[in-house]
Amino acid sequence: MEFDTITSISTPMGEGAIAIVRLSGPDALNIADRIYKGKNKLASVASHTINYGHIIDPSTDEVVEEVMVAVMKAPKTFTREDIVEINCHGGLVTVNRVLELTLSNGARMAEPGEFTKRAFLHGRIDLSQAEAVMDFIRAKTERASKVALGQMEGRLSELIKGLRQSILEILAQVEVNIDYPEYDDVEEATNQFLLKEAKYIETEIDKLLNTGQQGKIMREGLSTVIVGKPNVGKSSMLNNLIQDNKAIVTEVAGTTRDVLEEYVNVRGVPLRLVDTAGIRETEDIVEKIGVERSRKALSEADLILFVLNYNEALTENDYQLFDIIKDEDAIVIINKMDLEQNLDMNELKEMIGDHPLVQTSMIEQKGIDELEEKISELFFGGQVQSQDMTYVSNSRHIALLKDAKSSINDAIHSAEDGIPIDIVQIDLIKTWELLGEVIGEEARDSLIDQLFSQFCLGK
Ligand code: GDP
Ligand code: ZN
Repeated sequence: MEFDTITSISTPMGEGAIAIVRLSGPDALNIADRIYKGKNKLASVASHTINYGHIIDPSTDEVVEEVMVAVMKAPKTFTREDIVEINCHGGLVTVNRVLELTLSNGARMAEPGEFTKRAFLHGRIDLSQAEAVMDFIRAKTERASKVALGQMEGRLSELIKGLRQSILEILAQVEVNIDYPEYDDVEEATNQFLLKEAKYIETEIDKLLNTGQQGKIMREGLSTVIVGKPNVGKSSMLNNLIQDNKAIVTEVAGTTRDVLEEYVNVRGVPLRLVDTAGIRETEDIVEKIGVERSRKALSEADLILFVLNYNEALTENDYQLFDIIKDEDAIVIINKMDLEQNLDMNELKEMIGDHPLVQTSMIEQKGIDELEEKISELFFGGQVQSQDMTYVSNSRHIALLKDAKSSINDAIHSAEDGIPIDIVQIDLIKTWELLGEVIGEEARDSLIDQLFSQFCLGK
């Protein structure tokens, strides 16, 4: 395959003071040298150096920008091609000028995700790692980016490769059996071995799938709704959570919606304050949209924060809400603990079921730590997750793993039912192929193109 030299702005638009124009390809150094003036030609400097100089427009000799240029020569680069990164600090206008100069001097505008695609095509990373790059770009919190990093480093790939190896070993054993069908004990041994290994593989796939939900939440945030009567302190709680934690407003990359979403990072758990029933904090939801619709709206949330007032008795509305949330993940918060008690705590204890209870005073800023602790406990299930755990967080991976699980399951059932081993073999091969697709070994071209076009421009 022939590769040309691609260019793009590789820092997010409008973010940060420095913007980078990145070139990759066989002509990257020559193109950069046409528009760069410094102590040395970039083609002659050592690899992995930063060089101070100026970008000039060669058609007019006009100085466009003062720059630091990083030179990374093949093959020890992300794309395994020569890479030049021009660091500009002059804002959007100059960055675009620099980009245009690279274009008019021989580079081609990179397609979305094309840098990562090249890394993949040059064997620098496998497909699951490439997808992790995309997740990394989108990762909302530190913990989420650690998960993405782990995947980038190939943990998921290692696991999948191990499973595929096990399947190959079963297949080898099956071959022996097919070659020597006359020995009964070989068949028996094969069956035993097959069942044991296949069940192991099924368990491992299951483990990976179980991490999926957590991984999804890591990427997308825990969709959170705050409910309670008017005036109980919902807005105050929201403000306290936002003040205490960094509120992140993110643009969801790669979607056409371009929505702004609000995230609060509570001890590594990204809360996405969602717009169920039209408002983030939902006053009298039951009254407004009715019991059934409230039930449906609230069941779609990952987390419900139900706020009560210590100073007020429970109302009919509260009883309905308790009923609605009884099977949901919810935290009950009694606010205004600084005021006189009008809430019957014994009655409340009966209503509350298994939900955690936190007492707060938003005015005195008390109990917020406990609330945050409960949120994190609820999400991480009490057991502190080791941060280097491998999550499967990508929906394509999850779909493939589910298919792989069902085909290994078919293999197990066939073997148990004594179905001829060469039929069982077909399901094993299918499992092997599906797992391969996760790491891109069986990926077809169209799949690859589709995946990489999802990437943010410049990566
Ligand atoms: P929302 O209608 O549920 O969003 O409630 P707000 O957060 O807007 O609060 C309603 C009123 O209660 C405001 O005047 C707040 O200052 C007050 N408030 C909120 N939390 C507390 C608290 O813990 N103690 C006391 N005494 N007042 C509070
Ligand atoms: Zn409010």
